[in-house]
Amino acid sequence: MPFIYGKEMLEHARQNGYGVGAFSAHNAETIQAIIEAAEEEQSPIMIQVGQKVINTIGLAPMKVLIDSLAKASTVPIAIHLDHSRQFTQTMEAIQVGFQSVMFDGSSLSFEENIAITKKVVEVARALGIGSEGEIGKIGGTEDDITVDEKDALITTTEEAITFVEGTDVDYLAVSIGTAHGIYQETPKLRFERLEEIANAVRRPIVLHGGSDVPDEQVKRAISLGVAKINVDTELRQAFTRGVQEAFQLNNDDFVLADTLGSGKEKMKSKVQEKIRVFGSNGRANELLENQKVVTL
Ligand SMILES: [Zn+2]
Repeated sequence: MPFIYGKEMLEHARQNGYGVGAFSAHNAETIQAIIEAAEEEQSPIMIQVGQKVINTIGLAPMKVLIDSLAKASTVPIAIHLDHSRQFTQTMEAIQVGFQSVMFDGSSLSFEENIAITKKVVEVARALGIGSEGEIGKIGGTEDDITVDEKDALITTTEEAITFVEGTDVDYLAVSIGTAHGIYQETPKLRFERLEEIANAVRRPIVLHGGSDVPDEQVKRAISLGVAKINVDTELRQAFTRGVQEAFQLNNDDFVLADTLGSGKEKMKSKVQEKIRVFGSNGRANELLENQKVVTL
């Protein structure tokens, strides 16, 4: 069970030109799909615990579940808190032993975002835990916004520099043209801005809304400094289709191990596909040789 702190994992990725997939987990089968895919690809991974699953299953129970399902794994794993908008929740994740936490203050004023992110960074850093902050708003694809409004959401290099200087956050989520969900039209990432920001802040950049972004754009973003790519929607689609297929094959089969198992297999293939696009396949050993491993 080699758990690795988020900062070490992402710095290794950044310095070696690959990206780590941060895959969202929703239940036992989705955790298994992510871990089994990582094992087969010998890839480091982040398992993300997001706000929806915290509301349904809970933060601490998810941590226990991931720990126990990861017990036999051999690849480096970091458990990451996604899009927390509460300081107290980030502290709870730190308390129960997450290796990485995100505070999302993008809905606050820029000054408030800096102030709270800085507090999260201080506590996380004292314990070796990686921290992620967000500037610029990464909207949803369902948000009805005009092209001008989209431009206004793109993170400026000055904002990124000010935010990093004010918070010293380990990795930074920026808005460079992606959105959460499935796109109505193919997204066009702002590569020039990404390159400028990555060169200015010299720390891993996080790409949210990684589902459905064309592979070539994702690879180029990684070459310019993106080291963490969040994927959720595409994995939930794959899982749901797997469950639907099982029912179509045999609509009298109410054995959940069969239907959920079919979902798990479909999601696992999708995670493997993403791992190869991100270039993190085969990187597990070199990361483990170089980094401090936290075992529970
Ligand atoms: Zn996100």
